[in-house]
Amino acid sequence: MTTVAVAGQDGSESGEGSHGMGPDAFEGEARGFLEGHATRRSDEAFVWGEGSDSVGLFPERTPAQEAADLAAARAWAQTVFDAGFGWISGPPAYGGRGLPREYQRIYNTVAADFRTPSMAAYGIGLGMVAPTILAHATEEVKTAYLRAMYRGDIVACQLFSEPGSGSDLASLQTRAIRDGHEWIVNGQKVWTSGAQFSDIGEIICRTDPDVPKHRGLTGFVVDMHASGVEVRPLRQMTGGASFNEVFFTDVRIPDSHRLGEINGGWTVALTTLMNERAAIGGGGGGVGLPTSTRLVELARAMGRSSDPLIRQQLAEVIVNEQVARYTNLRAVAKLAVGQLPGPEMSLAKLSLTANMARTCELLASVLGPALIADTGAWGTYAWSEYLLGVPGMRIAGGSDEVLRNILGERVLGLPKEPAPR
Ligand SMILES: Cc1cc2nc3c(=O)[nH]c(=O)nc-3n(C[C@H](O)[C@H](O)[C@H](O)COP(=O)(O)OP(=O)(O)OC[C@H]3O[C@@H](n4cnc5c(N)ncnc54)[C@H](O)[C@@H]3O)c2cc1C
Repeated sequence: MTTVAVAGQDGSESGEGSHGMGPDAFEGEARGFLEGHATRRSDEAFVWGEGSDSVGLFPERTPAQEAADLAAARAWAQTVFDAGFGWISGPPAYGGRGLPREYQRIYNTVAADFRTPSMAAYGIGLGMVAPTILAHATEEVKTAYLRAMYRGDIVACQLFSEPGSGSDLASLQTRAIRDGHEWIVNGQKVWTSGAQFSDIGEIICRTDPDVPKHRGLTGFVVDMHASGVEVRPLRQMTGGASFNEVFFTDVRIPDSHRLGEINGGWTVALTTLMNERAAIGGGGGGVGLPTSTRLVELARAMGRSSDPLIRQQLAEVIVNEQVARYTNLRAVAKLAVGQLPGPEMSLAKLSLTANMARTCELLASVLGPALIADTGAWGTYAWSEYLLGVPGMRIAGGSDEVLRNILGERVLGLPKEPAPR
């Protein structure tokens, strides 16, 4: 029998390659590492009223807490990387281990049984920026940043949206003008998650204003510590400040830090956006998700678990949680065999956020006024943070409406909506 190896997007191979380690041996190695460095989750059953009742979708932290969380995440990322599990399917030339993609899934499955620090700070960098660097950057940039990103040494952010450009990203105005071997960038980005602790950013700029909007963009990797980069925090309605405005004033970027072709930035942006939808749809990218157990225990604690209407709402949430998960797995399975997933990504993100809206309705039914008025009772008002985070989730990474347009036009074959004049 002939085994055909298909090159994945990360240069990994699918199937048994020449790496010399079978999946069982790898799983044993991963389990051994995690047993030695982390605590098993199964040892800590969920008990109503004990531990933290935080269920927010976005972090609500002081700068000091943020720094402590980042230090813990960094230390864990470095331990994982140095043990050979930080970039399992990445090409060895840039610090990866060169194993097939399914080995990453094996590791994730084993790791899900262990309690480890939140890697939210690295979600955008590893979920979206690193795959784009791998696909479009120069050798110099791949060598300089990929290993450091996967080892947790540096954090990356995504500098796409602007005050006048979100869904219509191609209309962005931040300018990059060539000056010899460098580019000079001026403009403003907004809603940049994690810019306050990022070391590098993927930025899309306008490099030719005289051609149709999609054809005049170029992507770059920018040093967030460079002169002329100013990060200003934005406070969200939940109280925290996870997002920022980022101002660029005469910031110089070497041409070697260009991603893809000059004026080929739209292709670069699409690589990132495709990975963004996959990361959010899969519950990655730092998105905290309530577990079904917590919702069931909430209904019990409020004395509502025998109410048939509540049971029906609960069942809908749990069933649709599985739908969102399986839809995402379809996209991941395509990636594993070297195919590019299509609308599954949009569908997975839409399924996830539709279920968040359903979860809010369930919470309102179970908690009533305790959802919006703090009685001090554990595990009740804490859900208001979740409720207030859902609108952001429905916008980030492609709004519900925009994703519906994509599905309507590309899956259902409906006519395109008329372009604005
Ligand atoms: C939590 C969060 C994190 C984010 N993090 C980042 C980040 O790290 N980096 C980054 O670059 N950006 C980030 N963003 C910004 C995000 O990408 C944009 O908010 C998003 O693309 C929408 O753009 P907008 O806010 O300009 O809204 P608009 O595009 O102005 O949309 C406004 C409303 O119009 C609707 N709409 C727009 N176009 C259409 C259409 N064609 N058909 C039907 N309805 C339409 C939208 O659905 C929405 O309801 C983040 C946003 C959020 C909420």
